[in-house]
Amino acid sequence: MRFSLTLLGTNSALPAHGRHPTAQVLNIQERQFLIDCGEGTQMRMLDFSVRKARIRQIFISHLHGDHFYGLIGLLTSYGLNGRKEPMEIFSPAGLEEIIEVQFHPSGGGLPYPVKFSAFDPDRPQLLFENSQVEVHSFPLLHSIPTAGFLFREKDRPRNIRPEKIEEYEIHFSKIPSIKQGADLELPNGRFIPNAELTLDPPRSRSYAYCSDTQYTEDIIPYIKGVDLLYHESTFCDDHKDQTLVTMHSTARQAATIARKAGVGALILGHYSSRYKELDCFEQEAKEVFSNSVLGLEGREYEIPLKKD
Ligand SMILES: [Zn+2]
Ligand SMILES: [Zn+2]
Repeated sequence: MRFSLTLLGTNSALPAHGRHPTAQVLNIQERQFLIDCGEGTQMRMLDFSVRKARIRQIFISHLHGDHFYGLIGLLTSYGLNGRKEPMEIFSPAGLEEIIEVQFHPSGGGLPYPVKFSAFDPDRPQLLFENSQVEVHSFPLLHSIPTAGFLFREKDRPRNIRPEKIEEYEIHFSKIPSIKQGADLELPNGRFIPNAELTLDPPRSRSYAYCSDTQYTEDIIPYIKGVDLLYHESTFCDDHKDQTLVTMHSTARQAATIARKAGVGALILGHYSSRYKELDCFEQEAKEVFSNSVLGLEGREYEIPLKKD
């Protein structure tokens, strides 16, 4: 029942100091989701033994190159590896044309289906769901239309208490409805409330990804109370003046959003290449929100399964 995030790239536009442009893999119950795909993403997957064949959905936050220049290589390698499973790519409009034009000169596409699902980053929407998870997009404040993504597990059914099955001789046909919260009526007409028959399931977990964005409290309603938040932090306080010019955030601003949104933990990233050392990011963020950590490439951040 894993829910974990692996960072493949934590730098902003320029790769530097051993750090790479943005890419992340989120593992939810062994389904992998790729979030942004900066240059070198497939090499970082090899470095960190990411099982990339399990990825069936890719989410691209915006069309600045440091968030998608790795796609053409990754998609090509899937083909060379004999992939047959479809791939779905969610992004703002325009990506399909960019990818197709690169395949055009070699006369071919890919030996597996790729579905491009363009979405409008300026309005929140449900992009994807399966039986375990929902993925929503929400607008960020950046120099081109840019979305954040919210990944949330669906609620699990309630756990039935085995001793109650025996005690009330519950027929197996009634178990699914009891797990959904139904009471039990015994043959003698007596009602057994669901609370006696079941235990709370583990809490559903959530992760919010705030790609490139200037400080904006407008995002707080979308990310409120998530277990784990990634919020870009391109600068420390010493270059705060740059945040309005480039439409990025400082670590302190990211931490302020984390605190105001009441999240469990904050991961920092999208560091400017002007910083070789990252101490100022962690220090300044922790002054505002103590549960802030530096995002580091190859590091896996896990959200354990727990009950309320
Ligand atoms: Zn960027
Ligand atoms: Zn950007």
